[in-house]
Amino acid sequence: MTEWRYPELGQDLVRVVVSEEDIQRRLAEIAAQIDEDYAGSELLLVGVLKGAAFVMSDLMRHLHGDVAMDWMAVSSYGAGTQSSGVVRILKDLDTDLTGRHVLIVEDIIDSGLTLSWLLSNLRSRGPASLEVATLLRKPDAAKVQVDVRYLGFDVANEFVVGYGLDYAERYRQLPFVAVLAPHVYGG
Ligand code: 5GP
Ligand code: MG
Ligand code: MG
Repeated sequence: MTEWRYPELGQDLVRVVVSEEDIQRRLAEIAAQIDEDYAGSELLLVGVLKGAAFVMSDLMRHLHGDVAMDWMAVSSYGAGTQSSGVVRILKDLDTDLTGRHVLIVEDIIDSGLTLSWLLSNLRSRGPASLEVATLLRKPDAAKVQVDVRYLGFDVANEFVVGYGLDYAERYRQLPFVAVLAPHVYGG
């Protein structure tokens, strides 16, 4: 099925981990929870480029409250599959976070290094509140103390692509999340 829909990519994928239907259903549930939790207050969604672009746009479409969006670009991975632990700001926010209710929107938390760095960075800017929503979380994330308020799915410790997640900038357009075949990255 995947091969049929993606004749040039299908052979690079081992299996689908989270289907398009499951992603959309879960994001709608999370959005309903966010609407309830932030009822009556302005919310600023902060997306982390580029991986969170799909989560952000589909999640935001389901929100009915007073909501704004901003973006940051940080780098932790380069073209490989291992977290470097070194985080660099490539693009900072346009918005002053002072007194704002901020919700970080992430694609995936693996080692949690990127997120814990981001949390302390954004916390220092004086937001009224700061929470995290992520579509995916890997087992290693449990090792660092990162509170995730809204979680889509826990996934196994495999390198996945699709729904915004890339390998060397490829595979982002897939509407589902799939395990990348090790032959693609020489594993
Ligand atoms: P962490 O710092 O939590 O180890 O990694 C966070 C970032 O690494 C994610 O935002 C994502 O860009 C990248 N990443 C972690 N695991 C995966 C994965 O399985 N697939 C892809 N494509 N990127 C990942
Ligand atoms: Mg990310
Ligand atoms: Mg990437």
